[in-house]
Amino acid sequence: MFDTAQYRRKEVEIQRIDSIMRMLPPDAQQVLEAGCRDGYITLKLAEKYQAVTALDLNLPSITHPRVACVQGDITSLAFADKSFDLVICTEVLEHIPPLMLETACAELLRVTRRYLFIGVPFRQDLRVHATRCLHCGSINPTTGHVNSFDLQRLMSLFGNMHFTKTEYPGRGVYKTNRLSYAIYKHYGFPYGSYEQEEPCIHCGKHLEKPRLSLPARITCLFAKGLETIQNKTGPSESPVWIHILWDITVQDSLKCQ
Ligand SMILES: [Zn+2]
Repeated sequence: MFDTAQYRRKEVEIQRIDSIMRMLPPDAQQVLEAGCRDGYITLKLAEKYQAVTALDLNLPSITHPRVACVQGDITSLAFADKSFDLVICTEVLEHIPPLMLETACAELLRVTRRYLFIGVPFRQDLRVHATRCLHCGSINPTTGHVNSFDLQRLMSLFGNMHFTKTEYPGRGVYKTNRLSYAIYKHYGFPYGSYEQEEPCIHCGKHLEKPRLSLPARITCLFAKGLETIQNKTGPSESPVWIHILWDITVQDSLKCQ
């Protein structure tokens, strides 16, 4: 089982949340959090803003006088255009099927009248901690992350608007290499993120760790050793996340000039 409480205490996670709260604008009232999960950020937003709509694929259960819970899908939001002063969407876009990604971004942009805040993993190596589903045999990228982002990609997804602020919280992104990945793949990805909450992205069943013979375990340990050397000697100080805040009213005034 994925231990959410333990994860929230990790230093990188604290840095991520601090960055979000520091970057968010003070002058908003109606806020949409698209993809709120357990409501950890939602409750922080409720301390800061008058009215927070917490949306997720499964109806969230967050009890707070300023929070309204809504079931919904960010690829098709049931809100009128410009319904919110601020739309915040973190740790969501990396999960959206690539064919739906542009639609999801357009929807987030459509429902904000002023601010849009996006947070995603930065240049994530999607091969790291990949898993293989024992049920359907397909390969899953770690924690169901199917998209990797950098500033350029995010900018182009949101119409290349000028951003107001950007931050890159967290340090030390873990990378793999072709040989280690090939070995892991051969043995069914023994070091995959099997404790994740997300099920198989192909068949929806729970992911289970493969059982390996001793020779297989030794070969995989060799692959792991290679990866460790690579990460200790390579440029490991790459940020973990990228956060961007846009003020779309600034774009409108730039266009008018
Ligand atoms: Zn599967």
